[in-house]
Amino acid sequence: MAAELRNQLEAQLAKTPVDDGAVLDMLKRIVEVPMTLELLKATSIGRTVNNARKADGASQATKDLAASIRATWKAKFAKKPSPAAAVAAAAKPTATATAAASPAAGGAAGKERRASAGGGGRKFEDAIEEIPKYDDRFRMNVCKMLGKALFNKHRTLRVAPMEGALDPIKTAVSIEKALHNEITHTSGGSSGNDKHKKKLKMFVANINSTANPDLAIQILTGKIAPEKFVGMTPGEMQSDEMKKKKEEANVKAMNDAFMAIKPGAISKSIRCGKCGAKETEYTQRQTRSADEPMTTFCVCLKCGNRWRFC
Ligand SMILES: [Zn+2]
Repeated sequence: MAAELRNQLEAQLAKTPVDDGAVLDMLKRIVEVPMTLELLKATSIGRTVNNARKADGASQATKDLAASIRATWKAKFAKKPSPAAAVAAAAKPTATATAAASPAAGGAAGKERRASAGGGGRKFEDAIEEIPKYDDRFRMNVCKMLGKALFNKHRTLRVAPMEGALDPIKTAVSIEKALHNEITHTSGGSSGNDKHKKKLKMFVANINSTANPDLAIQILTGKIAPEKFVGMTPGEMQSDEMKKKKEEANVKAMNDAFMAIKPGAISKSIRCGKCGAKETEYTQRQTRSADEPMTTFCVCLKCGNRWRFC
C-alpha cells in the first residue's frame, strides 16, 4: 500500500504545477499508513513526501502536512534516542500510566518497550501519535507543546493513580480545541498570530512551573476544564499557596539579596525584558567554578520568555 501511494504521489508531483487538491488527498491517505522503518526504507516514500513539501503549486496546507508527516517519521525512526525518551525510560513507571495508551501506538516495538518498562512507561514519541493531524501548523504546535508539557507533568507528578486522572495527550488535544474555538470566535479564524503564540508560551511556562504543581494536577484530573484553562490569566493560574509563597519570596528577595534561593522560587522583583512583567520563576545554579557567582535562570510566567544572568 505504501509503495502504491508513493507511485501515485510521484505521478501527481510530476505535473507542473501540481494539482494541489490531489496531492493533499494523497498525503492524507499516507498519514493513515501504519509506517515502519522497514517500509520507509523499502519505499523511499519519505523522499517523495519531502518533494511534495517543495512542489510547485502546492498550497501551504499541503506543504505543512508534508512537513508534519516528515517530522513525525523522523521523530519516530531517528536512531538516536531523544533526551525526552531517555528521561521517560529513567522515570519510575506508575501502575496505570498506560491504561489509556493506544494499543496501536508504536506497533510491536512500542509494546516491547512498554513491557520492558514494567508496563507503565509510555513514551512521548508513541503518545504523540494520538494527536489528530491538523492541516494548520499552529494547531499542531499547540497540541504538541501542551502534550509534551502535560505528558511530562503527568509522569513526574505521578498523576495516574489520582482520582479523576485524565490522559495527558487527550487533555492537550481538548485544550487545543478549546483554544481554537476561542480564537475563531475572537479573531475570525486567523490562527497562530503573535498574540496566540505568546499565549501558548504562557500556558506552557505555567504548566511547567515547578513552583506550581497544582495547576498541572488540576488540569490533569479535570478540576480545571480545558475551556476554563484557556481563559485564565497567569495570575489566575497560580494557587493560593503559590501566591502566598510568592509574597514570601518577594519579601525575602527584597530583604536579603544574597540569601540562598530555593529552586523554582517566584520573584516579583525580576522584570522580564520582553514583556515587562514582574512575575518570574527562577532557579540558581553554579555553572562555572565554585568561587564564581551563581547563574540565575529565569522564566517569565506571563509570556514564557527565558533568560539568565549572573
Ligand atoms: Zn515576559
